[in-house]
Amino acid sequence: MVDGEREQIVALDKECLWHPYTAMDDYRRRTDPIVVARAEGVRLFDVDGRCYIDANASWWTSTLGHNHPRVVAALKAQADALCHAPLAGITHAPAAELAARLARAAPVGLDHVFFSDNGSTAVEVAMKQTLQYWAQNGRPERRAFVSLEGAFHGETLGCTALGGIQAFRKPFEGCLVPCHHAPSPGDPAWADTAADALEEIVSSHADEIAAVVLEPMVQGASGMRIYGADYLRRARRICDAHDTFLVFDEVFTGYGRTGTLWAADHAGVAPDVLCLAKGFVAGTLPMGATISTARIFEGFLGEADRAFYYGHTFCGNPLGAAVALEVLRVFEQEGILDRVGPKAERIAHAFRGLERLPHVDHVRTLGMIGALDLAGDSGYLADGGWRVYEEAKKRGAYLRPLGNVVYVTPSVNIAEEELEELLDILAESVRAIA
Ligand code: PMP
Repeated sequence: MVDGEREQIVALDKECLWHPYTAMDDYRRRTDPIVVARAEGVRLFDVDGRCYIDANASWWTSTLGHNHPRVVAALKAQADALCHAPLAGITHAPAAELAARLARAAPVGLDHVFFSDNGSTAVEVAMKQTLQYWAQNGRPERRAFVSLEGAFHGETLGCTALGGIQAFRKPFEGCLVPCHHAPSPGDPAWADTAADALEEIVSSHADEIAAVVLEPMVQGASGMRIYGADYLRRARRICDAHDTFLVFDEVFTGYGRTGTLWAADHAGVAPDVLCLAKGFVAGTLPMGATISTARIFEGFLGEADRAFYYGHTFCGNPLGAAVALEVLRVFEQEGILDRVGPKAERIAHAFRGLERLPHVDHVRTLGMIGALDLAGDSGYLADGGWRVYEEAKKRGAYLRPLGNVVYVTPSVNIAEEELEELLDILAESVRAIA
C-alpha cells in the first residue's frame, strides 16, 4: 500500500460518494469503511492487506467466489473479441447460446429469455410483460399485482410498488402501481394461514390481478424469512384457478443459494415468469434475465403494435452473456450443487448451536443460508446486527446484517474449511454481544 492511501480514498469517498442504503450523515461521522483493494475466492483484502471472509457473497451475487478464474478468463476472452453490440437487427453467439442454455436449465415451460441489466430490471420486465399481455389479450382491467408483506424486488418505481418493506416504500406512496400485499408465510404468526390469506386476496380481486410475484422459499431483504414449499404449490394452484400469472423472483434464490439450482425446485412447480440476476453473472458484471412461457411470448406476436417495446442499451451484452454462459458451465462441470449438502448441514448445525442464547430468537436455515434474529428492536433500521458486524470485523469476517437479523450466505462453492472458519467467527461474534 502507498503511505496514506487509505486516508486519501476515505477522504474522497466522504466528500463525493453517495452510498446506497446508507444514512450518509451517520456514515460520514461514524463509519470507518473497509477500503477493499482486491478479492479472491471468499476473501476480501483491504488496502492494508487485512483479509475478511465475505459472509454474504457481495450482496448475494458472487455465488462462485470472487474472481473465479474460469469466469474471469471468459470475460477477458470476450473483451478481446466484442464488448458490445445492440440486439437490434444484430445477434451474437454469447446471447443466443445463453438464451438457449437458460431455457434448458429453467423450470419446465420457461423458454423465452429477455435480457436486461440487473435484478430490478429483471422484475420490471416481468411486471411490464404481464401487464401488457393482459392489456392486449382480452383482460385490460388486470392492472394490479399481489406480492408479500416484507417483499423486496428491486429499486425501480415498479419494483418499489411490489416491495413490502415500509421504510423503502414510504417516500413514494401515492406514485406506485396498485399492489395487494399478502401476509408473509415467513412470519411465524402467519405460517399456517398465509396461503389461505393469499387465496382470499386473489379470489376477491381476480379480475384486476396481472400477476402474483414471490421470492420463492425465502424473502431475503426483509430478513431471510424462510418458508415452506407447500406455500408455493398453493400459490401455483391459486393462480391457475384464477388464470393469472405467477412470477418467481429468483434474483437472490437462484443458482444454488437454497441448495437446489432454483428455489422453485423445492416445490416442484414452475412459475410463468422467472427473474434472474446476481448469481446469474456470479458477481462479475451487472446483468439480468426474465424467462417467460410460450403463452406469454405468443401474446406479443402479430401486429407491430403488440410488440414488447422495452429494452436497455446493454440488453444481452456480449461480456455479460459470455460470463453467464461460463457460470452455467462451472456449475455443471465443477459439480457445485452436489457439494452443497454437507455445507448446508454445517450451517444448520452452527445456527442451532446459537439457538439457546438468551439474546437470540428464531434461528432458521435453508441450503446456504443461515439466519437468526437478535432479541429486542426489529426491522431494517434496528441496529443490533451492527454490533455483531463490528465483532466479526475484528475477527476477520464481513458480516453485514439486515437490521436485527444476523445471517450468513457465503459463496455456494466455499470450501468446507473456510466455512468452518466463518461459522466460528459468527458464533464468537454473536456470543460477544450477549
Ligand atoms: N429481487 C430480489 C429478490 C433481490 O434480493 C434484489 C436485490 N437484493 C433485487 C431483486 C434487485 O436486484 P438488483 O440490486 O440487481 O437491482
